[in-house]
Amino acid sequence: MSRIQGILSQLYNENYIPKYDMIYLLENLHEGSREQLFDCARKIRSKYYENKVFMRGLIEFSNICSRNCIYCGIRAASENVDRYRLSKDEILSCCKEGYELGYRTFVLQSGEDRWYTASKVADLVSSIKELFPDVAVTLSLGERSYEEYKLWYEAGADRYLLRHETASRNLYEKLHPDGDFDNRRQCLYNLREIGYQVGAGFMVGLPGQSHYDLVEDLYFLKELKPHMIGIGPFIPANSTPLAKEKAGRVEDVLVMLALTRLMIPESLLPATTAMGTLDPRGREKALMAGANVVMPNLSPIATKSKYQLYDNKICTGDESAHCRMCIEKRINSTGMKVDMGRGDSLIA
Ligand code: SAH
Repeated sequence: MSRIQGILSQLYNENYIPKYDMIYLLENLHEGSREQLFDCARKIRSKYYENKVFMRGLIEFSNICSRNCIYCGIRAASENVDRYRLSKDEILSCCKEGYELGYRTFVLQSGEDRWYTASKVADLVSSIKELFPDVAVTLSLGERSYEEYKLWYEAGADRYLLRHETASRNLYEKLHPDGDFDNRRQCLYNLREIGYQVGAGFMVGLPGQSHYDLVEDLYFLKELKPHMIGIGPFIPANSTPLAKEKAGRVEDVLVMLALTRLMIPESLLPATTAMGTLDPRGREKALMAGANVVMPNLSPIATKSKYQLYDNKICTGDESAHCRMCIEKRINSTGMKVDMGRGDSLIA
């Protein structure tokens, strides 16, 4: 057995390998061994989640942001962004449309927009829960205090997505001129302590990111054990400091998805829109590498194109009902099946 074969079988059987083996794997995977890796990831995924793909309806409710992450198309300093905020009624009507299309979980995402005060968000969450008692509500509004997170949890929020972005302190600090590496991580631990199902995650192919940095992501996640892990390629966004940089590679994201599936087998892994943006079959490929969640967009058609985290984002002209059907066909083409339930993680 070659060293790669040995490492893959240890990873498959024990869901763990030492860091030096992980580095070796990343440096030496070739086409044949990549397919074996994906095959292992699919087997583990099926063992825990069968062939189900969980659907979450995404509502991007504000592109106003006070932060300046240098990769992000809606950063505060970007002047050519048409800024918007959805009102409570507009958000509720997106939920209603989503509910009628069969969604039982909504993800409310925005820039870091303090106009949505702690009490406005709590009120929004409790109204959604009152109208649709059988849905799971996920928030993704960035970094807030322990007390705010707690208030929203008490108002009925079930889950919170906050990607750690990169587990390398050095790279994190270069990308987030107004960010605090330790605070972002602390937020994840706070959310977990409060009782949320937590989503972390990272970008692949960031300028200056090495295999060593990516290995740090895997071991940080192994320790944090989040319920969900969002992994997508970096894609340049116009009028940001990284506008002229190269995008991450779909193949590299697939490898990281598969490794994450093997290291944290019970996690939920979305096939991200960013994957579909770089490759027309990017989301299908992600599902074939161990992913098991998709997050179709439920935002109003008038604002879909304004939430441009990166250039050429797909599906911004499509009605929510169209997205629902389109994604189902794509899922079926991989031999997997749509599951419209709440899709709770198996992680305790
Ligand atoms: N304000 C929220 C939501 C951020 S946007 C928060 O802080 O969590 C959601 C995710 O999009 C980010 O976490 C980041 O990982 C991703 N993203 C932003 N810009 C991107 C880009 N240029 N390419 C790829 N992904 C990007």
